[in-house]
Amino acid sequence: MKIGVLAVQGAFAEHIKVMESLGAQCVEIRQEKDLDQKLDGLILPGGESTVQGKLLRELHLFDKIKTQIEDGLPVLATCAGMILLSEKIADDDTVHLATLPVTVRRNAYGRQLGSFYTEADFDGLGKIPMTFIRAPYIESVEAGVKVVAQVDGNIVGVQYGNQIAISFHPELDKNQAIHQKFLAMCRKNAKAA
Ligand code: GLN
Repeated sequence: MKIGVLAVQGAFAEHIKVMESLGAQCVEIRQEKDLDQKLDGLILPGGESTVQGKLLRELHLFDKIKTQIEDGLPVLATCAGMILLSEKIADDDTVHLATLPVTVRRNAYGRQLGSFYTEADFDGLGKIPMTFIRAPYIESVEAGVKVVAQVDGNIVGVQYGNQIAISFHPELDKNQAIHQKFLAMCRKNAKAA
């Protein structure tokens, strides 16, 4: 499986390590031509969504990524990546790719003390570790969006067709269940194509 990892800012190297350890081939997406090859999946890493959104536009990645996601490319978005996908951002007029019909809140746990670790249920995976770093959470979802993880009553994981978006950073923990689930989704999608 060939997995594109958006590599303009943020925690992309950690995702690449995990995916390669699972046998996937990773390509860093830094410029428009990187998107001309056939990808089986795309990872949008954590980092700073305002910076990433700006770079997506400046580097002319925005339209191609949006179209490919809308055309069914499997995508795993973590933290800032979740914000990039969301159709609405609470308290912010800016939206980015807007392919995921949810309302997200940035820095939902506060800016300073917003980092913590917990373990919680993820649909189909049981209890998994979850590391949150100035994380967003989802305030509301539209029809068709499946809530796959909640912590303290807040939505921290959703799936909408080919899109998985989570508030936490699975690439920072040893547990590889999220990446395995995503890779299985990419395989299934490639087979069906
Ligand atoms: N606070 C960041 C943002 O709003 C997200 C943090 C993260 O990706 N770890 O974009």
